[in-house]
Amino acid sequence: MPLRRSPLLVVLAVSLGLTGFLAYEAWDAAHRRRWDAVRTLNEYAGFAAWEFGISVKESIYDQLIWIFSPLNPAAPLSAGQALPGPEILNSTLKPAYRCDPDADASVFRVDLTTGRLTTSGPALAPAFAGWIRDTLPPIVREKYTRNKTFAGLWGQVAGERRGIIYTVKFDAEARPLAAYGTEFCLTQIGRTAIEKAIAARAPLPPHLTRGLPNDSLFSVEVRDAFGAILTASKVRYTSEYHARHVFDTFGEISTEVTFRPDIDTVFFHEGLPRSNLPLALASIALAITLVVVGTMQLRREDELQRLRTDFIASVSHELRTPLAQLRMFAETLLLGRVRSETERTRSLEIIDQEARRLSHLVENILQFSRAERQAIVLSRVRQPLAPLLRETVEVFQPLARARQVQVTTALAEDAVADVDAAALRQIALNLLDNAVKYGPAGQVVHVALRQVGGACLLSVEDEGPGIPASDRQRIWKAFQRLERDVNSAVAGSGIGLAVVCELVMGHGGRAWVETPESGKGSRFVVELPTGGEVA
Ligand code: ADP
Repeated sequence: MPLRRSPLLVVLAVSLGLTGFLAYEAWDAAHRRRWDAVRTLNEYAGFAAWEFGISVKESIYDQLIWIFSPLNPAAPLSAGQALPGPEILNSTLKPAYRCDPDADASVFRVDLTTGRLTTSGPALAPAFAGWIRDTLPPIVREKYTRNKTFAGLWGQVAGERRGIIYTVKFDAEARPLAAYGTEFCLTQIGRTAIEKAIAARAPLPPHLTRGLPNDSLFSVEVRDAFGAILTASKVRYTSEYHARHVFDTFGEISTEVTFRPDIDTVFFHEGLPRSNLPLALASIALAITLVVVGTMQLRREDELQRLRTDFIASVSHELRTPLAQLRMFAETLLLGRVRSETERTRSLEIIDQEARRLSHLVENILQFSRAERQAIVLSRVRQPLAPLLRETVEVFQPLARARQVQVTTALAEDAVADVDAAALRQIALNLLDNAVKYGPAGQVVHVALRQVGGACLLSVEDEGPGIPASDRQRIWKAFQRLERDVNSAVAGSGIGLAVVCELVMGHGGRAWVETPESGKGSRFVVELPTGGEVA
């Protein structure tokens, strides 16, 4: 059997693998497309930040270049020419670019040969002067090249952020001679220059922005080397699409551009590709479910197949025992081997008993097969149940006697219900048969009938081993036998209770098993609705 199944399992497994692979491919493609789109947006942001950086740089440059023009830094100092004093810058420095617009600007010169600092205008604070003297010469030697017009330097001086702009005068041999500069306040110059720059420049071309103005698409921030904002656009967006450009011309300044969060809908027709991860996961889950359900179904089928085979074996076994008895006693009679009238009667009794057992068994099998085909037809008639049950017990007596079992009854005469007489007989017989089969020889089996409210309760109680609580549900299903009985001498096919259950349900009732108050044996209870108005 498993061999027949294996191609199916292979197909299921391959389809699971294939679905998993396709789902992964789809997810990966969507993921890549999304990643590319996000990268493109960040590149646009980077481009815009860079463009703004250039604007800001140019703007600051234009505003400051004239401070240094009287010095003409590009022209080298010829041999024998004296170094100009710092005041050469003095007259041109506009108050607007000073940190304190009311105070005169102080300009300085650092002689790079001697390291001497000379100032013009108000004296520099000693700490600031010391910082310039110590920091500027090494930076000039290390970084400053002749092609620069001027540069900026920022620092933390005595707990305050200070900045200078400076230029360098070279000699004919391109040796730096002296640095000239002044303190300037980037916050002041920044604001005007940067705002102008931002207003003037639209870094992204109209065909990219679909004609929308640049400032409706992103926000800009310009920060100094300390991370403090020098200026920022009025709107401030936060999104994952942003980029920063840093330039070091006047000390470190950075421009940062952040697109509005829904920018993808502007740049891409349908926005960012949606992640199809949920869909991929759902299809994998579906494939897994298919495999699990398929495997379970196959197992169930295997199990059913096994149960059917067992069933055929046990039914044949059950049929064989009474048949053998029948043949043996019939032969005894036929061949006249009985020695007395009592023996003759006894033989006939056994023949009768076994014939009953056979017909009961066959009836069960027929009923079960009807139930399987859903072809049970009940003709329910309103009638008292006591006479029916009394008659059934009577019919059963010979079988009970064979095992020295005493069957007692307590039947409520007024219990009336709409029942199919044959079905009720079969229910009672099956329960009685089990009680005798599984209980000990010599026990008392008690049959009771009561009417409780709108239902009649029929119970069959024995002194057998009882049913463990964990098995009380499954014994009502077809082919289910308790482990202890599967390999025991007690013959059974596992359909008796299934037939009871089908017939009871056909009456709209229910059946269950419980432990009697005495604590031993089992009590099988069948509840049948009376079906009509109860007086
Ligand atoms: P079977 O043909 O095996 O008797 P049933 O459907 O009538 O099939 O019963 C199912 C199983 O329930 C039995 O195999 C047995 O293990 C258990 N069982 C049924 N009735 C009793 C009982 N009165 N006492 C103990 N076990 C019982």
